[in-house]
Amino acid sequence: MKIKGLPGDWVTEPLHEDFAQSLRVETLLYDSRTDHQRLKVFENPTFGRILTLDDVVQTTEADNFIYHEMLTHVPIVAHGAARRVCIIGGGDGGMAREVLRHASVERVTMVEIDAGVVEFSKQYLPMLSRGAFDDSRLDLVIADGAEYIRTTEERFDVIIIDSTDPIGPGEVLFTDSFYGHARRALAPGGILVTQNGVPFLQGEELTGTMRAFKALFADATCYLATIPTYAGGPMAFGWGTDGEARHTPLEELARRFEAAGIDTGYYTPEVHKAAFALPPWVQRLIP
Ligand code: SAM
Repeated sequence: MKIKGLPGDWVTEPLHEDFAQSLRVETLLYDSRTDHQRLKVFENPTFGRILTLDDVVQTTEADNFIYHEMLTHVPIVAHGAARRVCIIGGGDGGMAREVLRHASVERVTMVEIDAGVVEFSKQYLPMLSRGAFDDSRLDLVIADGAEYIRTTEERFDVIIIDSTDPIGPGEVLFTDSFYGHARRALAPGGILVTQNGVPFLQGEELTGTMRAFKALFADATCYLATIPTYAGGPMAFGWGTDGEARHTPLEELARRFEAAGIDTGYYTPEVHKAAFALPPWVQRLIP
């Protein structure tokens, strides 16, 4: 698409009714439909390679580290003894990459509905998965995450919902019944975390998830981080658990993170703690 007065072609996101971001397409690397969605991979001078599904930004080479670090290290470091992790979605491999950096994690089950996203991400976005798909600890399941979590007998210490927004195949991953099944699939002390959109523009999604979490968990809240290409302000991550993991003292988080020996670009134990400090306008979205 052309934008008057701006050179080149642009992809404009159709995610919000009254607000959109556009990203210049320097080189279009792939553009086709999978069985579930329209998949594009293109180069942008600022953000590097970008994956979109149905023209909605999924992840970019330049800023994915913020999102993937905050949806993995926060629950894993807070848990303190996570051995079995489940990722619902995550087809680009970035979430699996970050989880697998924890040597203490023994198994990662990744349930992705669209094999096309995995195959194209392996080929066009290898810098995201960085070998995660070849890690012997990874079980990749191509299935609807809602169906998998409803029927699995597995129990997980951390479940990460790394889904698209609640449109198309992702819609079912924002329902009360899905959250109820995910709660059942948690081991004692387990933690459920979710990609919950940009509350300034998708506040009702956060409210819906928090209402469901409040009915399911003793500790239900969200935490925040700002990812430039999830435009519109900070992104919210849903947090649900029955344990006390959120109240782990900073010193203990720091000891665990030190022991994990992981270098990061965004996550630190201090950022972890601060991420749960919610401004009033976000608190008001939580029932
Ligand atoms: N970081 C992105 C975001 O915040 O929107 C998510 C990235 S990841 C590519 C999203 C993945 O969720 C996609 O690969 C998509 O195919 C997958 N997905 C969507 N609905 C799903 C479902 N019902 N079960 C499993 N995976 C699903």
